[in-house]
Amino acid sequence: MALSSDFAQSLKLQADIVRIVGDYVSLKKAGAQNYSGLCPFHKEKSPSFSVHATRQFYHCFGCGVSGDVFSFVQKLENITFPEAVRAIAQKVGVPLPKVSYSSPAEAQEARLRGELLDIHDRATLFFQEQL
Ligand code: ZN
Repeated sequence: MALSSDFAQSLKLQADIVRIVGDYVSLKKAGAQNYSGLCPFHKEKSPSFSVHATRQFYHCFGCGVSGDVFSFVQKLENITFPEAVRAIAQKVGVPLPKVSYSSPAEAQEARLRGELLDIHDRATLFFQEQL
């Protein structure tokens, strides 16, 4: 199933990048609209990773990564864009757009993919608990 970019756009407006990134990185307020923390993409001891709350993007002054909330989850979890959209929709609690399947096989496949995503989420949780 293809998630429309309209959905991704509206999800992006509802997903607070500070909260989503905050699930992975411990962020400290560094300015009126800025948060900073240790970059999850390279090893560092002093925080050069910054998240901008109103402009909804992140940037690391150490390794130069930057992007929006989707690219953050995509890079960090090593998943595809549609998977990142789904993961963020789940975190934010936004229901995914309903899709109608043309065949039972397709519906079955989608259900299996949903289960895989669940397993992936649990694996991530497990991984975080081990840190
Ligand atoms: Zn970095």
